[in-house]
Amino acid sequence: MRCDEMTALLPALVDGETVGFEAESHVETCLRCQAELARYRRLLRTLSMLRTRYAEPTPGLLGETLAVITEAAEHGARRTLLSGRRLAYAGAIGGSALAAGATAAVLIARSRKRALSLAG
Ligand SMILES: [Zn+2]
Repeated sequence: MRCDEMTALLPALVDGETVGFEAESHVETCLRCQAELARYRRLLRTLSMLRTRYAEPTPGLLGETLAVITEAAEHGARRTLLSGRRLAYAGAIGGSALAAGATAAVLIARSRKRALSLAG
């Protein structure tokens, strides 16, 4: 019997089914198939452990989770509001600077006209 033929029989062998004398004697003498069999048994053991490990949620978990989500959402909304206000302040400051500049330009222009009219 070849190793690749044995691979198909490994699940039956693990379950304790009879797979025939030829297959059983092959596993007894073949290190590769013995390793494969051990790996298969370990995989099944791990899977059965995963099946029994079910984490029961604590009674207050849902409430705590919702509170955290709500808090995070409110925090995000506050940050958005603050950054909007900052933009409004920056716009107001920029507008004031612009108005002051325009006023200064008008005053300078007027004073030049007066100087010209005095000279002429
Ligand atoms: Zn083999």
